[in-house]
Amino acid sequence: MTLADQAPAAQQVTTHNPVDSEPVGHYPLAQGADVEDAVRRARAGATWWQNQGFAARRAHLLHWKSRIAAGAEELATLISAETGKPHGDALLEIMLTLGHLDWAAKNARRVLRRRKVSAGLINYNQHATVGYEPYGVVGVIGPWNYPLYTPMGSISYALAAGNAVVFKPSELTPGPAVWLAERWAEAVGHDVLVALTGDGATGAQLVRSVDKIAFTGSTATAKKVMSVAAEQLTPIVAECGGKDAMLVAADADLDSAADFVVFGAMGNAGQTCVGVERVYVVDTVRDDLVARVVERVERLRIDGPDPHYGPMTMPSQVDVVRDHVDDALRTGSAAFGGRDSVAGRVVGPVVVTDVAEDSAAVQHETFGPLVVINTVASLDEAVERANATVYGLGAAVFTKDKGAATRAADALRAGVVTINSVLGFAGVAALPFGGVKQSGFGRIHGADGLREFCAVKSVARQTRRAALNLLTMERTDKDMHTVARMIPMLHGRAKPPRN
Ligand code: NAD
Repeated sequence: MTLADQAPAAQQVTTHNPVDSEPVGHYPLAQGADVEDAVRRARAGATWWQNQGFAARRAHLLHWKSRIAAGAEELATLISAETGKPHGDALLEIMLTLGHLDWAAKNARRVLRRRKVSAGLINYNQHATVGYEPYGVVGVIGPWNYPLYTPMGSISYALAAGNAVVFKPSELTPGPAVWLAERWAEAVGHDVLVALTGDGATGAQLVRSVDKIAFTGSTATAKKVMSVAAEQLTPIVAECGGKDAMLVAADADLDSAADFVVFGAMGNAGQTCVGVERVYVVDTVRDDLVARVVERVERLRIDGPDPHYGPMTMPSQVDVVRDHVDDALRTGSAAFGGRDSVAGRVVGPVVVTDVAEDSAAVQHETFGPLVVINTVASLDEAVERANATVYGLGAAVFTKDKGAATRAADALRAGVVTINSVLGFAGVAALPFGGVKQSGFGRIHGADGLREFCAVKSVARQTRRAALNLLTMERTDKDMHTVARMIPMLHGRAKPPRN
């Protein structure tokens, strides 16, 4: 019998399979003392974990990774049951996740060990080093769309940096969190990773109790989390929503671009923060691209035993998608699907062209299988339109011209740009990930992702008394005369820039 079985229904989180609405699991609805208890246990775990040092932590993390890998089928079944996504998508999510865990475990020492920096000529008597120290307990608050990959992008890096983690998953998908913590308990056996199941109120309380917050979810919730974090000045990394655009130039490989439009827009039923929601295609190839996209969308299976994608995980998201489809059709034309595609929990693919730029379907996150394809005169115009939303998560550029691709990538206001693919970065563990503008701030993944979960500590060790000793109350006139001569010598010799 689990803790949840003993709790009254009002204090439980019950999950349902979005495919058939059957219950999947019951979990405790943590509140009040439960949250404090989870953080207290993690604090004890943090001390033990920090004392292990890099080499032992690496070994523990890799052992945990093996336990996760050994149970991958079971975990994929759980992810699939709570999200409704196909089993194959869940397996792919696990593979991507383990790649990041592997990288974080193996690179933490190289990135975070104390390192020497140059003290400079004047401070030759200082031995200067920079160290990266874990915060203590990191609260990770996760979404439901990739209930493993997304929060593990914070958890893996926070743990590898020497922190303990209290993981509060989405109330729609607590299963993978509990499963991960169970594998941790088997593999490592200390309270370094603690799963805390519950709802938004559980998350809000967690924010008040930890040393750092890693939040992934909607922009609206991130603002609430930040305001609570502000009470204690608790640092946060915020991974929020997006409205990613794909830019297609006249010289692009249109077959490849069309493949990626469909993969990026329809994969996981469009419930991907870095999914393709807008396409800006140069006018000369617009008709060819639309025809190729439609041809591929026609082949998508959304029902039967082996669908390409599943239902909307969150029931209320169906209404958002319906509103956006209606809104897109007010000014645009349906190239595939339409209002009738949004009939039940499984939403059919919808492709709408030439939609007004100020419409909700172009400006706000849809998080469903709707893609808008708008026509532009040039790649420059595509960049301008891509930048004209409040979001800045990812963007993609399709062209054979490397120079044009680089210029567009430089001009796009986004945290990540892919060239001739979408989501090409997701498995590259060394690449930091995160957004700009209202898509968030801070970074997970890569070396920046490890440093995100550390407080920087600088140490300056004086090795000998300086010949020019300025750190004294008894400076001499001679010393100050030297300083007066040095200022222009050291800092006053730059020439004006040539125009
Ligand atoms: P959400 O904002 O509704 O919830 C996210 C998490 O926050 C959940 O665990 C929820 O219980 C918790 N929460 C809710 N209210 C809270 C509060 N007041 N204080 C603390 N925690 C609270 O988001 P969602 O619907 O679960 O996820 C979908 C969103 O996540 C989309 O906008 C998507 O773009 C975004 N997302 C972003 C990334 C990224 O890396 N940038 C990745 C995946 C999903």
